[in-house]
Amino acid sequence: MISSPKVVIITGSGVSAPSNIPTFRNDNNGFWKKYETKKVCNVDTRKSKDHYDFMNMFRKIVLDSKPNEFHYLLSSLQNKFGEDRIKIYTSNIDNLHETSGSKVTHLHGSLDSFRCETCSHKYKLGLTYKLDGKELCDKGCANSFLRNDIILFGEYFGKEYDLLEDDTNNLGDQDLFIIVGNSLSIFPYDHLIKNKTCKSIYVSYDKIPSDIEKKFTVCIQDSCVSKEVLDTIEKETLNIFKSLEDLTNDLKL
Ligand SMILES: [Zn+2]
Repeated sequence: MISSPKVVIITGSGVSAPSNIPTFRNDNNGFWKKYETKKVCNVDTRKSKDHYDFMNMFRKIVLDSKPNEFHYLLSSLQNKFGEDRIKIYTSNIDNLHETSGSKVTHLHGSLDSFRCETCSHKYKLGLTYKLDGKELCDKGCANSFLRNDIILFGEYFGKEYDLLEDDTNNLGDQDLFIIVGNSLSIFPYDHLIKNKTCKSIYVSYDKIPSDIEKKFTVCIQDSCVSKEVLDTIEKETLNIFKSLEDLTNDLKL
């Protein structure tokens, strides 16, 4: 039985930002400049016209966007080593990872998916669908309307977060843990980072506080599409799979 290294990677809004998708932040390219996102994306307003309008506008932005070099780097690595070895989780609700060819788990749901609040049946209607809040579930739920299949302010994480926890808890010495473009002050990733014996990489466009810097083996403050970031992620990933490649080559001989 050969040991099989693994990479768990979590991506956030900093990965979609170079594809011109606004972040949920109060910077020049952020949604908060124009919208009160905590109001239009809140569990209490999920049936309001403002919420549907905001989500339909967001879908239009994603439809007009393209994956960037970082998305394509991850899809090429996943294609090379397999989705069981390169596990991608994202807090983004756009579909740019999928468009670039990756298999990804969405921690906050996805813009192209809708669901019934009663039976949780998911309807993959795509990004061109404009939900107006009047669509009824057709699975026999009485008067149950479809909603955007995303986690709103005021809601808990779904079972996808449990998968992420399982995957990160099982990381060992030979593995690699990467977080890119996620503000660790907002997301509850602290306990995921704790007690890691594997190499870990954190990439953020913003200044990285020293208490966070201490928790990772490598920290890079830059855009995810910078040469240093792309090269580092590729090099470190290839590095942990080196023994596996050597073995595969031996078997071919
Ligand atoms: Zn239903």
